Amino acid sequence: MDDMRLRVYPDPVLREPTLPVTEFDEAFRERIEKMVRIMHERDGVGLAGPQVGWSRQVAVVFDGEKNHVLVNPVIESTGGEQEGDEGCLSFPGIFTKVRRSKEVTVRAMDEYGKERTLSVEGFIARAFLHEIDHLNGRLLIDSMSPLKRSLLRKKMRRLEKDEEM
Ligand SMILES: [Zn+2]
Repeated sequence: MDDMRLRVYPDPVLREPTLPVTEFDEAFRERIEKMVRIMHERDGVGLAGPQVGWSRQVAVVFDGEKNHVLVNPVIESTGGEQEGDEGCLSFPGIFTKVRRSKEVTVRAMDEYGKERTLSVEGFIARAFLHEIDHLNGRLLIDSMSPLKRSLLRKKMRRLEKDEEM
């Protein structure tokens, strides 16, 4: 499990079910720190466990000022609607329009197992919902039209081949 590195679609781990976190020890916090590092190295605004091959209910989100750690997150309520372009570190260079709630209230633990409720809106609500989707195996590609999806599949296969060469 020291093998935490960014996983790119179609890596099967992105679809695997995630387990809740029950132990909040130093090793756990080190892994969270590593996720935060990987997120910042790639200029991402969010990263979920499966994206680094870690099938746990863990995500980090950077709001431009601070890092949020979401462990075992549960969506309590949502409101409003927003539509905007969304990217994902597991789909490098890809952006697609996604319709989401404008506001969301999430109950989640921090890296010490302390539970709190976070209410966010706009861009950060989008990021929270995107990362929680990852924990349920839902990916950016699932929001695309069938045509866009098949073009993307071709593009990702080409990228894979390039890496092999
Ligand atoms: Zn993503």
